[in-house]
Amino acid sequence: MRAAAGKVYIVGAGPGDPELISVKAMRRIGLADVILYDRLVNEELLAYARPGAELVYCGKAPNAHAMPQEKINAALVAYARQGKTVVRLKGGDPFVFGRGGEEALELAEHGIEWEIVPGITSAIGAAASAAIPLTHRGKAASFACVTGNRCHGDQEPVRWDLLAHSVDTLAIYMGVSQLAVIRGELLKHGKVASTPVAIIEQGTTSRQRVITGTLADIHKLAISFKVVNPALIIVGEVVKVREQLLLAEQQAEAWVM
Ligand code: SAH
Repeated sequence: MRAAAGKVYIVGAGPGDPELISVKAMRRIGLADVILYDRLVNEELLAYARPGAELVYCGKAPNAHAMPQEKINAALVAYARQGKTVVRLKGGDPFVFGRGGEEALELAEHGIEWEIVPGITSAIGAAASAAIPLTHRGKAASFACVTGNRCHGDQEPVRWDLLAHSVDTLAIYMGVSQLAVIRGELLKHGKVASTPVAIIEQGTTSRQRVITGTLADIHKLAISFKVVNPALIIVGEVVKVREQLLLAEQQAEAWVM
């Protein structure tokens, strides 16, 4: 079979702040004939598309459904077969809860050239922006990126029992609606109730909010602060470093004044 002329770049747009995209990703955006982009992509980045490039929104519009994954896969194949340079632009990193692997497989199966351009995943971006180091000498030697949306349903459940003991910092994606269940699982499997927790809403953007508490109260705080998606949950002693940093900053400011 002759390889199609077009190529698909599966590109990470970074966690929200448009400046956190890579140079490589920007160059691919500037080259594309068509860009298929997700809801979590900062739309400011589309300004770097070349004039006349076709922009296709694949996220969920108000009162409408998101484009189903099969339709996105089919569109990627169809555009590439037309000989187009395609950018599939995704929030964060395409290979971290981004379904980039499924899209790459589909392209590979159809003999279409593809390339992954990594992005800063939201755990890394949001943690940095909230002043929470994911590892920290004396507090955390490991971290895990975990999905929070496998608490129900027929998918393999997340092993909260193992995570509670074997990883120092948990960065939980898609966990806001399941926060009470996740917290319950961690407590049930032996995490202490005083374990610090942070929720970072819209991390790295101008609308970022950071809510901190402990496993004892974080689910109640999330409700009273009306936390909405996208938000990342960080569980672990490293959350305390944020408090240290903020305090040190305040003290430094007080000295200057
Ligand atoms: N591929 C993406 C993740 C997509 S899953 C990445 O690498 O970041 C969607 C989840 O990512 C959201 O439910 C939320 O938990 C997290 N997320 C994405 N953008 C975020 C942001 N700006 N702030 C906090 N969490 C974010």
